[in-house]
Amino acid sequence: MALKDLFTKNQPKKKKYATITKDTTKNDVPEGIMSKCPSCKKIMYTKELVKNAKVCLHCGFHFQMTAKERIDSFIDEGSFVELNEEMVSMNPLNFPDYLEKLEKDRQKSNLNEAVVTGIGTVNGHKIVLAIMDASFRMGSMGSVVGEKITRAIEKADELSLPFIIFTASGGARMQEGALSLMQMAKTSVALKRFSNNGGLIISMMTHPTTGGVSASFASLGDYNFAEPGALIAFAGRRVIEQSIREELPEDFQTAEFLLKHGQLDAIISREDLVEKITNILEIHQPGGELEW
Ligand SMILES: [Zn+2]
Repeated sequence: MALKDLFTKNQPKKKKYATITKDTTKNDVPEGIMSKCPSCKKIMYTKELVKNAKVCLHCGFHFQMTAKERIDSFIDEGSFVELNEEMVSMNPLNFPDYLEKLEKDRQKSNLNEAVVTGIGTVNGHKIVLAIMDASFRMGSMGSVVGEKITRAIEKADELSLPFIIFTASGGARMQEGALSLMQMAKTSVALKRFSNNGGLIISMMTHPTTGGVSASFASLGDYNFAEPGALIAFAGRRVIEQSIREELPEDFQTAEFLLKHGQLDAIISREDLVEKITNILEIHQPGGELEW
């Protein structure tokens, strides 16, 4: 199979972010005026929730964000330039209905794939960014997701910029079989090369980060962070319980559990995110100091 069979550029161009209006960016909040928090069950105005970076006003539950919402809340306004946005998946294994499903998700999410990559600034610091979006095929990782992330890492290497990734994924994309799994090795090698050249890698795991994504680039940051309450897992709880024949703790596979057991460096809530990431970007510059 030739590389060109895995993805193509021939699709019509999607809109640039600058032209996307706010009302296309609320996929995760139920339609309508009010939203219900899945954690505390309280009801609040959707408008207020969105204004609060989709963090519950009552209990601090972090609702899922789309890639566009993430860009709006994390990157300096107007600074984001997208990379490889026109790349879309082919159907290399002729998996039934795959292309139709992709098209449906393109319509629904207004994205070409489950990851958006680009260059932007955070408080004036230039970075290369990759943001996964769980509203597209559950953020699953196929050839295009792996390729876009790899190209973003290589861009960061080329320009000597920090690389920041927000992960949200159900794991490898089953419709691309082993080709999906190969993305784990590809992205990991790109990160290792970048790291050897002195590159800074920050991984921010959001709910949910699972399967092959948690087992590759999501866990390979110089800093591995997560949002509060995020599910971070390789295999599912039931599979593990059945194979080790033991009951697992209630908070198993949560960000809080992983922090306690040394798998994460910190849990960062959305309201502190820009400030803390800015600080990390600054300490990696000459004369920088940690201010946590
Ligand atoms: Zn709540």
